[in-house]
Amino acid sequence: MSVIFSGIQPSGNLTLGNYLGALRNFTKVQDENECYYCVVNQHAITVPQDPKTLHERTRQLAAIYLAAGLDPEKAVLFVQSEVPEHVQLGWIMTTMSYVGELERMTQYKDKASKRGDSVPAGLLTYPPLMAADILLYQTNLVPVGDDQKQHLEITRDLAQRFNRVYGEDVFTIPEILLGQDGTRVMSLQEPTKKMSKSDDNQTATVYLLDTPKDIEKKIKRAQTDSDNAVRYDREAKPGISNLMDIFAALTDKSHEEIEKAYAGQGYGTFKKDVAEATISVLEPIQKRYAELIDTPELDVILTKGAEKAREKASKTYEAVTKAMGLYR
Ligand code: ATP
Ligand code: MG
Repeated sequence: MSVIFSGIQPSGNLTLGNYLGALRNFTKVQDENECYYCVVNQHAITVPQDPKTLHERTRQLAAIYLAAGLDPEKAVLFVQSEVPEHVQLGWIMTTMSYVGELERMTQYKDKASKRGDSVPAGLLTYPPLMAADILLYQTNLVPVGDDQKQHLEITRDLAQRFNRVYGEDVFTIPEILLGQDGTRVMSLQEPTKKMSKSDDNQTATVYLLDTPKDIEKKIKRAQTDSDNAVRYDREAKPGISNLMDIFAALTDKSHEEIEKAYAGQGYGTFKKDVAEATISVLEPIQKRYAELIDTPELDVILTKGAEKAREKASKTYEAVTKAMGLYR
């Protein structure tokens, strides 16, 4: 049995990328492992958030975790800000980090470049907080999308650095757990950029709660090329390759099978089928989400989840403070 931790930010409405890259894999591992899944609202505030929206999205995200199949009897589901050890250890991990290594993170560079002269310092110190999230649970495996590889690497570096200085057995060194195909879903409008829930361009993104009509429209309008052949080529045909990746992930078909099935048919038919496959996977999730979102049961699950998470997190945090001499 392994300890598994992962988190998603309530920084926007969840996307098909979040589902295929992360969420879908969370439920696959919950039967045989000790799992912790978190709504990382303190990561979301590394860029400005509207308080009312952040509050609503926190609850919505928790409901989506459950709607996607997370079982609260098997996995611990909680909100980051309700377990104060996350920011406490986050600060310590910040003190273990070098500015240079944080500045090299591509997520930092991407997100900072959009903010002109006012780059929030929290964007820079995002990775040490993420390291704290993971290390608090003595995590073995972290299921995340492939865009988070670099943050996982720095988490491992920080854990090893800490252990070297303060004692070899304080932190377990975690490993990344990528989905079978390492799916990175790209923007439907700029297929060289990843699909993100914080993207302002709504037509670039399929949201998990989109209506079937919207899903159809967005996929139909997805950027492709004029060559009209369903063929996989990430470099020359990023748009159609992205749709092929999405279709492959949703239907378990290989690229070769897809190419064969759509040979000579053009993009129209293929896009229609991609939309259909997306709708049929999302519809049951949407139905369960609607049943859950306003129930008091959701609050009970989150309150219990925070208690259970804290039990484990506080043990690690105590060991850390002891090792560092951070006590009276
Ligand atoms: P933001 O734009 O606010 O960073 P995001 O869509 O990148 O939002 P996160 O909360 O940062 O979502 O990440 C949640 C999980 O979803 C992570 O495991 C991340 O690797 C995964 N993920 C995010 N975007 C994609 C994508 N386009 N394809 C596959 N996985 C993704
Ligand atoms: Mg992200």
